[in-house]
Amino acid sequence: SRQRLKRLKNSEAKTQCGRRIELMANIELPEDVSSVVDVGADGVGLFRSEFLFMNRKEWPSEDEQFEAYRKVIKAMKGKPVTVRTLDLGADKTLQFDSANSPPASSNSALGLRSIRFSLSEPAIFLTQIRALLRASKYGPVKVLLPMLTNLQETQQALTYIDMAREQLLERRFQLGEPVPVGGMVEVPAVALSMPYFLKYLDFVSIGTNDLIQYVLAVDRVDHQVAHLYDPLHPAILRLVYEVIQAANKAQASVSVCGEMAGDIRLTRLLLGMGLTQYSMHPAQLLDVKELLLKTDFDATQKLVKRIVRGFDPDKIEQVMRELLEE
Ligand code: PEP
Ligand code: MG
Repeated sequence: SRQRLKRLKNSEAKTQCGRRIELMANIELPEDVSSVVDVGADGVGLFRSEFLFMNRKEWPSEDEQFEAYRKVIKAMKGKPVTVRTLDLGADKTLQFDSANSPPASSNSALGLRSIRFSLSEPAIFLTQIRALLRASKYGPVKVLLPMLTNLQETQQALTYIDMAREQLLERRFQLGEPVPVGGMVEVPAVALSMPYFLKYLDFVSIGTNDLIQYVLAVDRVDHQVAHLYDPLHPAILRLVYEVIQAANKAQASVSVCGEMAGDIRLTRLLLGMGLTQYSMHPAQLLDVKELLLKTDFDATQKLVKRIVRGFDPDKIEQVMRELLEE
């Protein structure tokens, strides 16, 4: 009912025992931010900036991007906005051909896409970063790097971010503190080597949509193999758990921004793994909040402890049943 929604919108996201949980929202276009404000989210946890580049005929300029980012930042009134840099390629393609658009390849999910593409086209990447840094004057912004695979890419991206800052200072823009830079954990190699990446990144966000695709070798958009796309596969749960634990141990901020974060059947499982930041489609946020409000953190942790040694599928099934009880 309307009243229930209003009550939920205005109540803080926390567990029954009072532990504060951050519930943030994912957006694709600046105008989506109104639905984020409507549900009282704690921030934008994932702004999929590539949608500013899709369904149009040319690259957006620095000024146009700046206006788009500023609009979202201002609408969030001091709550953090995490903007993911261009994640083009595979399921997210441009509508125009230009000398510097991501090339066709025989296996586009594994090709020159996402951060790999940005690093191969520094002018496009630098333009986006300058727009973001300029917009950071209007509220707290974080930069999120998609599809990182190795440390050189991470360092290279950080170098370009410094370079963009220098360029703006040369143009006499007033800039505040450097913005936090984080990385998506969506390539298995990163999930398996967290401590090294955490040396360079201020935060991480687990992209379970691609992580599942890459770990299970299942194309996320191919309906013929949709039945194999299983978030509860022991390998997925092990990786998600280990990434959360590694980040918590390093006292680094970690969120989940893939579809798993907005699935109420998985809310308690993730909480029990130690997750305290979720980012999801705005339409899912109040249901997740409602469930958290009647969830005991310690009880959930205890239940999840029973599966984390071996991730035995039978135990996973049994624990899932117990987590889903009222
Ligand atoms: C993901 O991969 O889980 C993710 C959040 O990003 P996208 O769905 O845009 O690839
Ligand atoms: Mg992804």
